[in-house]
Amino acid sequence: MAEKQEHTDRSKAWKPATTLVHGGTMRSQFGEMSEAMYLTSGYAYDSAEQAEARFKGDLEGFVYTRYSNPTVHMFEQRMCALEGADAARGTASGMAAVTAALMSHLKAGDHVVAGRVLFGSCLYVIENLLPKFGVETTLVDGRDLAAWEAAIRPNTRAVFFETPTNPTLELVDIEAVCKLANEAGALVFIDNVFATPMLQRPMELGADVVVYSATKHIDGQGRCMGGIVLGSTDYIEDTLHDFYKHTGPSMSPFNAWVMLKGLETLPVRVERSCSSAARIADFLADHPKTARVFYPGRKDHPQYDIAKKQMAAGGPLVAIELDGGKDAAFRFMNGLEIFKITNNLGDAKSLVTHPATTTHQRLGPEGRAEIGITDGSLRLSIGLEDPDDLLTDIDRALSA
Ligand SMILES: *Cc1c(COP(=O)(O)O)cnc(C)c1O
Repeated sequence: MAEKQEHTDRSKAWKPATTLVHGGTMRSQFGEMSEAMYLTSGYAYDSAEQAEARFKGDLEGFVYTRYSNPTVHMFEQRMCALEGADAARGTASGMAAVTAALMSHLKAGDHVVAGRVLFGSCLYVIENLLPKFGVETTLVDGRDLAAWEAAIRPNTRAVFFETPTNPTLELVDIEAVCKLANEAGALVFIDNVFATPMLQRPMELGADVVVYSATKHIDGQGRCMGGIVLGSTDYIEDTLHDFYKHTGPSMSPFNAWVMLKGLETLPVRVERSCSSAARIADFLADHPKTARVFYPGRKDHPQYDIAKKQMAAGGPLVAIELDGGKDAAFRFMNGLEIFKITNNLGDAKSLVTHPATTTHQRLGPEGRAEIGITDGSLRLSIGLEDPDDLLTDIDRALSA
C-alpha cells in the first residue's frame, strides 16, 4: 500500500520546477525513487469489515481504478500543487476531461457561452452534444468583451474557452471574462492546453475549473493520451466525482506514470520550445514569403497587451499565413524535413498542421473564414530540436 509522503508546509512555497519533480510523490514500503506504476484494477481488503468501511467512505483508501488509483492520484496531486487547485481527476484524454467537466455540471435548461474558436472536438461538444441534452449554447468572438457580456444570461451556468485559441492564437482576457461570468453566477471552464500550465495560471485570474489534454505538452513526447480536470474541492468532489466514478473516463495508471515523468521535465521543455518559437516567429515575420505571423509574444499580435498581462511567454505554437493559399501551404509542408506533418501538437518533435484540410475541414470554407482560417494558414508546434536547424528547415521549405 502506497504511503503518502509527508511534505512539510514548506512544500507550498516551492517554485513550480521543484513541485513538478517532487509534488504528490507517494512511496511504497520499498522506498522506490521513481514513482511506482500501480497497474491494478482492484484492491484487496484485509477484512469484510474494511471493505464495508471503504465503500461507506468511513475509511480512506482505494476501491477500484475506475474511481482512483495510486499512480493516477500522484499525477493528480502533482498537477494540483502546480495549478493551485484543491482537487483533480485524471482522465483518459483531453476530450474526456472537457466532456466530463461540462456534462457533470450542466442539466437541461442550462445555457453555456463559449469562445467560437475552439479545438475541433470541443466545438462538437458545445455545438452538437450539449444541445442534444437540452443545454442551449452560444458561441461568441472571444476577443470581444461586449459580446461575452451580451451573451451571458440568467440561466448561463458555464462559460468555456481556450486561450490562446487553436489554431489562430487569438487571446481571451481571462480576468475580464471570469469577472463577467462570476457576477452572473456561471462557472468558468478554461482549456489551458495552448499556454501550458507553465505560462498561464487561470485559477489566479478567476477561473473555476481548468482542463488539460495531457497528451500535449505534459507528456511532451507524443506517447500517451491523457487529460485532467482541476478545480475546487466542492466542484471536484460534489459535482464531478459521481459522474466520473459512474461513467468511466478514467486515466490508465500506465499513462499517469508517463505523465508524471513528463511533468518532471515540463518547465525545461516549455522554456526551450518557447524560446525557439519566439525566434521562429521573428524569422517568419521578416521573411518575404510569409504574409502574416500570429504569435502572442510579438508586439504586432493584435492582443499583445493581454498576452503581457496573462502569459509568462509567447508560447510553444506559432501560426502563420502564406500568400498563395493551399498550394503554397502544401509546397511549404512538403518541403520541410525536420518538421513532421501531423495534426498533433506539444511533442518533442516540431510539427506542422494545415487546419483547413485537417482539424478544421469540418467547418467548411465559410465557417473557417469566420474564425480567420484561410487555405494559407498553418500551425507550427515547436519542439526541442536545435533552433538553428529548425530555422534552416523553414527557410529551405519557404524557398522551395
Ligand atoms: C488536444 C486538445 C484537446 C483534446 O485533447 P485529447 O487528449 O486529444 O483528447 C482539447 N483542447 C485542446 C486545446 C487541445 O489541443
